[in-house]
Amino acid sequence: MIKRSFFMLSNKPRLTCDLLETDPEAPLKMDVPGLLTLLLPEPIDGKRTALIKKGDVVEKGQKLLLYENDTQYAVSPVSGTIKSIDTFTVDEVSGLRTRITIEKDDRNTEHVGYTDMPEDLSFAAQHLNQLPGAPGFDGLSRNGIQLNALVITVADTDLLSTTSQYVGTAHAAELEKGVQILKRITNLSKVYLLIPGYLLERVQFDGVTVMPASLNYPDTLPALVMKNHLDKILPAGRTPEEMGIFFIRAEAVVSLARAFEANAPVFEKCITLIDKTGARHRIEAVIGTPLSSIFSQLGIQIDEQDRIVIGGAMQGFATFTDHHPVTPDMDSILVQDKGDIIPLSDTNCINCGRCVQICPADIPVNLLVRFLQTAQYETAADKYDLESCIDCGLCAYVCTSRIALSQYIRLGKHELRKLRIDA
Ligand code: SF4
Ligand code: SF4
Repeated sequence: MIKRSFFMLSNKPRLTCDLLETDPEAPLKMDVPGLLTLLLPEPIDGKRTALIKKGDVVEKGQKLLLYENDTQYAVSPVSGTIKSIDTFTVDEVSGLRTRITIEKDDRNTEHVGYTDMPEDLSFAAQHLNQLPGAPGFDGLSRNGIQLNALVITVADTDLLSTTSQYVGTAHAAELEKGVQILKRITNLSKVYLLIPGYLLERVQFDGVTVMPASLNYPDTLPALVMKNHLDKILPAGRTPEEMGIFFIRAEAVVSLARAFEANAPVFEKCITLIDKTGARHRIEAVIGTPLSSIFSQLGIQIDEQDRIVIGGAMQGFATFTDHHPVTPDMDSILVQDKGDIIPLSDTNCINCGRCVQICPADIPVNLLVRFLQTAQYETAADKYDLESCIDCGLCAYVCTSRIALSQYIRLGKHELRKLRIDA
């Protein structure tokens, strides 16, 4: 298997990340809708007895598990009644999810708090993993993970979004408190703050080493931060956590401080929303709010064949439905008018080499895509570096033939994971 290192080729075209306004406005708070939706990253298993069912009454802050001994869970952001539990398809290449729909009632003063909040990884993984900003504590509790350093990102990892820059700077005092809690939870003292240089004066506290973030896309992605700032190469198919580096969004750290302050979970997610005119809205919505409710409150009309992209202009995915809910990791929503969408094509690769030239992981994308198109996923990984891909989306952005390269790559990684599980 090829285990090629990352290195940046010179003279590549560059895209620049979006900057936060000089005097940013607070997010517009969205109303909590009557029906909320939570997604669990596992499909319904008809052979097992579920722990929750339609008609169950739930409390605000209640942890919802589908089956006994599950490690994945959702946390109800409201008190109410479960109206349905069914299967949900996120997009064309992701696996199936379980969708839990909750009808809110008027007992919203009720809140399940924690009787005890130990500052340890086990508690964090079992109760705090669904905080706004998606901390990712579950990955740290796996066997064999030995952490050496924390990287808190006040830089956004995709174009158009300013969510991390906003939350990290507007709530710098809570960020500082959250950093102290995080240090105790992880037993780590080596903490880096990845922040664009122009924001440095807005976030100043002791006990962290500042990493000035590049404004060039995709330099804020973990693999490139590790290489450019920590002099560490992320091997193909490995995660930063497996290499001892824990990346966490500023918003997750702020949420951690708020949860410990309130002795209870918090649910308000900050999102950058770009509408069809290109205007940017900064909003705050409770996790589980369907996007349709947000669009309706902002007066954004979604027409047939318009596109809703979740998770970033370059790395995001188009959702089938405006009922997709706000999730803990949803930093941005992009709405594209059908007339502005550049269609993908079925034409063949013409070997122009633009994808190979721009790829920061030095992958022969023109060759890789041939194997992905013919479902030869193991060859794509073994010979053409599928697992070295950092999902930056640059190859698809520059492709002359408009081939759906990002979709092929995501599908390839998904199928490869399934093949390995089945092996
Ligand atoms: S998305 Fe494309 S350009 Fe980016 S690392 Fe993967 S193969 Fe390379
Ligand atoms: S950019 Fe597109 S057309 Fe050009 S070599 Fe890469 S895959 Fe082929």
